[in-house]
Amino acid sequence: MSFQGLGLLKPVVHGAQRMGYVEPSPIQLQAIPVIVAGKDLVASAQTGTGKTAAFALPALTRLKTGKNSIRCLVLEPTRELAMQVESAFRDYAYFMEMPITLIHGGVGYGKQRENLTRGSDIVVATPGRLLDLLKSQTADLSHVEVLILDEVDRMLDMGFLPSVRQIIEKCPRARQTLLFSATIPEEIARLSSWCLRDPARIEIGARRSPAETVNHAFYPVAADQKFDLLIALLNRTHFESILIFTRTKEGADRIAHKLKAQEHSVAILHSNRTQRERVEALEGFKGGKYEVMVATDIAARGIDIAGVSHVINYDVPQHPEDYVHRIGRTGRAERAGDAFTIMTAEELPHVKEIERFINQTVPRLKLENFPYVYTALFNEDEVEAVLRKARGVRTHKGYSFGRRKRR
Ligand code: AMP
Repeated sequence: MSFQGLGLLKPVVHGAQRMGYVEPSPIQLQAIPVIVAGKDLVASAQTGTGKTAAFALPALTRLKTGKNSIRCLVLEPTRELAMQVESAFRDYAYFMEMPITLIHGGVGYGKQRENLTRGSDIVVATPGRLLDLLKSQTADLSHVEVLILDEVDRMLDMGFLPSVRQIIEKCPRARQTLLFSATIPEEIARLSSWCLRDPARIEIGARRSPAETVNHAFYPVAADQKFDLLIALLNRTHFESILIFTRTKEGADRIAHKLKAQEHSVAILHSNRTQRERVEALEGFKGGKYEVMVATDIAARGIDIAGVSHVINYDVPQHPEDYVHRIGRTGRAERAGDAFTIMTAEELPHVKEIERFINQTVPRLKLENFPYVYTALFNEDEVEAVLRKARGVRTHKGYSFGRRKRR
């Protein structure tokens, strides 16, 4: 099946072909005809499935040509995603006259105001800045024909749903609405029945399964050996580019600092960094200037970093969905990738939760010749018994296998 039979405009097909796309991905095959026909849609799909083109190509087809008023609005949870989606729209619209504007916080208002005043048919925005521009009457949503709510579960996690609702209220009722979300919890189902009309529903792949092209494993270790194990993993892995996730921004800074001291070229991505630093980190990592990027979850969702060969979770993600998204950074678009998760005994409950969520047992691996201080970590029954006991005895701060000093 090619892109030709899906009802897309010719220049749009050429735009996709120019990007090297030969065949539509499964979500594109299902979503494009529905969107071209003007229907509302609720879609859930794993990251890296070609979701952006699944909505962008038919949205461009419906818009046909630029008219200099906002007719397609795309809401994204993070600046990075907004930038990525805006740039994808530009690529697909390469053979069309279609002004596109990117709106997000962390930068000045001037250029965004200027672009909106000049007239844009497509606006890709994060909710906060767009609301500001609506309040100052710089943006007018009364001509919106296609409203795209992307990564809605992430917008929910980030507390954006009230802003999203306010924005939707400024759009005409007669419009097409497309909602993309990895999961559809109660609040999103409510939002969906409020703002969509008789939507088609698409679910691609097992929603909970990690990308099938990723080999993943847990590496148990004592808490005070985590960094040593990370270094040992890095030294023994042949990688092109590696993304390391930490739970906190401080953790990301600390690890990046230590890695730099070991002569690694390191980019850092988290929300305490300035917009300029975030762009520089992402561009530098994509372009090969940095071989390692240390990031918090901000980078976990949807960001397309082609060629990430490895992902390391320095901490076990506390939400099982984040595990799937984080390791989804590697193995994108059918390329093989590896994902390692360093785990300590205290994180065992999160590990179990992840395994329940993805309905798989993830192998526990031991790095050969690494000077482990506690091999008992590999016997989880034993670990669990100790944890239960520790929980009973100590109710604060917890118990760590890593407390004992290494010789
Ligand atoms: P997304 O899920 O939208 O982030 O897309 C993941 C990656 O797949 C991006 O690098 C896209 O450029 C790429 N991609 C999307 N659709 C196709 C396709 N039909 N053929 C090949 N690559 C694609």
